[in-house]
Amino acid sequence: MRLDLREIINIPGSGVSFDYEPDLSNTSYGSVKGVKSPSRAAGSIRNSAGVLRFDADVDAVLLCTCARCLKDFEYPVSLRIQTMLTESEQDEEDPDVFLLEGDFADVDDIIVTDFILNLDQRFLCSEDCKGLCEKCGADLNNGPCSCKLNTDPRLAVLGQLLENE
Ligand SMILES: [Zn+2]
Ligand SMILES: [Zn+2]
Repeated sequence: MRLDLREIINIPGSGVSFDYEPDLSNTSYGSVKGVKSPSRAAGSIRNSAGVLRFDADVDAVLLCTCARCLKDFEYPVSLRIQTMLTESEQDEEDPDVFLLEGDFADVDDIIVTDFILNLDQRFLCSEDCKGLCEKCGADLNNGPCSCKLNTDPRLAVLGQLLENE
C-alpha cells in the first residue's frame, strides 16, 4: 500500500492513518518459515514539527521452527514499528530512516523491512521444550527415549555436566 503524503508533508501537526492487511506471506527469515494470512497493520504517519514519524502496530502469526525440537508451530506476535520518513538522500544510510518515493510512502516496504528487523532470532515451541535426543533424534517431549533409559549412570552424570555448560 502506498500512502499519499502531499496533504501532510508541509503541515506540522497533520497526519494520515491506515488500517489494513499487509502481505507478509513471503516473509521468511532464519527459523521463521512464513507468516499466516491475514496479518494486520494499524498506525499512522504524522508530521511532527516537520519530521514525518511512522508508527504501526502489526499483528501476525508466524510459522516457526522450534530451535530445540525442530517442530513447526504457529507463534502469534504483536510488534510496534516506529521509524522516520525522509525525502533526503543523505539520510538514506541511516537504517532507522526510510526514503520517500516522491510524496508517497510505501507502507508495505516499511512494514516488511522493520517487521523482519524486530523479530526474535530464536523461537521455542514452549519455554520448557525438551528438544531432541542427541543420539537417536527422538522428540523428548513425547517421553524419554530408550537411550536415556539404557545410559550408564556414570555417563548420565557426564551428560548432565555437558548440558549445564
Ligand atoms: Zn520444541
Ligand atoms: Zn535417544
